[in-house]
Amino acid sequence: MRKLNRQIDPTTFPVQFTGVNRRNWELELLKEARRVRRKEIKKIDFRGKSNRWKNAKDNLLSESLNKCAYCECYFRTVAYGDVEHYRPKSKYWWLAYSYYNYSASCQLCNQKYKKAKFPNTSASYSGPVIRRNSSDEYLLRTAGKLSVDPLDNSGITITEFKRIHKKERPLSIDPYIDNPSKYFGYKHDDRTREVLIKEKSSSKKEIAESAIDLFGLNRKELRDLRYRGLLTYRFIRDASENSIDQNRKEGAKLILETEYYSDEAEFSGMYNYFKNRKLIPFT
Ligand SMILES: [Zn+2]
Repeated sequence: MRKLNRQIDPTTFPVQFTGVNRRNWELELLKEARRVRRKEIKKIDFRGKSNRWKNAKDNLLSESLNKCAYCECYFRTVAYGDVEHYRPKSKYWWLAYSYYNYSASCQLCNQKYKKAKFPNTSASYSGPVIRRNSSDEYLLRTAGKLSVDPLDNSGITITEFKRIHKKERPLSIDPYIDNPSKYFGYKHDDRTREVLIKEKSSSKKEIAESAIDLFGLNRKELRDLRYRGLLTYRFIRDASENSIDQNRKEGAKLILETEYYSDEAEFSGMYNYFKNRKLIPFT
């Protein structure tokens, strides 16, 4: 996993998640929440609504450099991928259409592993107070204030959103807020030919282990694929440090930067972890 940055360019940002449309969608959610309170419906039904968050996908993929935000695999050659709700819409209904609650994810991380789970250390993030007799005026006043508006200042501020995140402290990583490189380390095993992802230090163990479990980051396919990447990485790293041919040495250094350490590279989180460590030779 790597740190990601939001790309909020007014000329390309999907207009659905800002301004009047964002407020209207929030108003719709508030009205639905009131219907739940009035026992007219059991829960807010998001079936048939996925076309809304699909509008975010291109921008999200641009932010995650066409990789899954969690396992760092390129998936676009074989799959469409998902717009993942970091905080599940089933529980955090007021964030269902919030751009800052989205990330681009592969189907396995999202649908097979995470699903609607969201462990945290404090249940402190609660939505707006909606009662069965909440007035239309109240809903109108509240709409637009439930989430961050990426382009104008009509929603909550990003600073406030980060404060809420830190207070709730999910037992998970939001790669847009938390820095994954502070949480994760990697361990390779030449006997089993795999690379495991693990906590970087004991103080990060609880969050790291929970996130690994949540997204299935040690599933066999990933352990194997990371090891195959590490094999060539070690070969090129060795050439970059020990080759007596200067051209070969410089070429190897260039390949490391562009194909392994750069944010675009698949598993760049792993290669950057090994970057400043003594490379263990093949055994
Ligand atoms: Zn994934």
